Amino acid sequence: MSGRVYNFSAGPACLPRPVLEQAQKDIGEIFDSGMSVLELSHRGKEFDRITAETFEACHAVTKIPDDYTVFWMQGGATSQCYLVPANFLAHDRTADYFQTGKWAKDSIKEAPLYGKCHICASGEDTNYSTIPTGNAVSYSDNPVYVHFTANNTIMGTEFHADPSPPDGSFLVCDASSNIFSKPIDITKYGLIYAGAQKNLGPAGITLVIARKDLIAEPVRDLPTMMQFRKHAEKEGRFNTPPTFGVYLMGRVFRWITEQGGLEAMAQRNQARANILYTFLDSQDFYIPHATPESRSNMNITFRCPTPELDKAFITGATERGLRELKGHRSIGGMRASMYNAFPTEGAEALVSYMKEFARQHASAAASS
Ligand code: PMP
Repeated sequence: MSGRVYNFSAGPACLPRPVLEQAQKDIGEIFDSGMSVLELSHRGKEFDRITAETFEACHAVTKIPDDYTVFWMQGGATSQCYLVPANFLAHDRTADYFQTGKWAKDSIKEAPLYGKCHICASGEDTNYSTIPTGNAVSYSDNPVYVHFTANNTIMGTEFHADPSPPDGSFLVCDASSNIFSKPIDITKYGLIYAGAQKNLGPAGITLVIARKDLIAEPVRDLPTMMQFRKHAEKEGRFNTPPTFGVYLMGRVFRWITEQGGLEAMAQRNQARANILYTFLDSQDFYIPHATPESRSNMNITFRCPTPELDKAFITGATERGLRELKGHRSIGGMRASMYNAFPTEGAEALVSYMKEFARQHASAAASS
């Protein structure tokens, strides 16, 4: 294999090395079965074992109370944008949404297909550099649920305290880009979903954790594939699941526990993000996007003084094996995504390159 690079991709993202090495072996043959993990029938005994191990490993990562259920689905986190209102939002009821970036807006687009959608807070006036809190949040009367995006992958902002939904409503959380990056109290949510391709595994599988009573009966007639309860009842095997995704997610859950669990993840993630934020705060060449109180520990967004310098920065970074740092086209600049499996040395290597680049280009920037 050629040398590994530091992969700052926002997702699919870098995975734990030991998990990939085990997967390599299991792609050859798993459980002395004479079959590759990729060849297993999803109804066979080997895959029964994998499914059981993945559930068990998920429960080991965090306490999932008895009145909650865990399952997985396909269609990405994007499918949850319509599945959530389809299952929960009757046409004469309202759901509240935090508009904190592109992924939140994607959910806001789908909700009115099913019921009323109220934007309870928006970060639009600051180009989504801030998470609205306090008086900036105004809930509707009696919403069914309040939807929020726990970490805004593109903008580089994160909720550091969850919203408090009005009595009688429940929280729906898109945790795609920060799930299991820190301890989580499942009882605070009605439903949590997360596309796996950042903190949990490969693309193609979405983890869902839901309160059982909420998904027992959808509010309208729905095609079977759209009903949360069917996927929950069949433990993620209503139809053929993405079997490799189920396998790998289970191995990533185990890896999290072996590393010391969510407390250890949180400490490492915070320390790693601090390496970049401390540097950004100490200089005036790079311009950070997120305001300090809303900064994400997963995706760190910044830009150079000019778009030309952004381009040169990316080219130089790629030459040094610092890959996938280009920011999302909606905000430009750079984005360093550093999920659970990202090595701390990668953050150090990036800061050292940033220092060098700033030294070389400071005078050009000053005269531009
Ligand atoms: N929500 C968030 C927070 C995301 O970061 C993403 C993908 N980057 C999505 C939703 C959409 O996920 P998918 O591409 O799996 O549909």
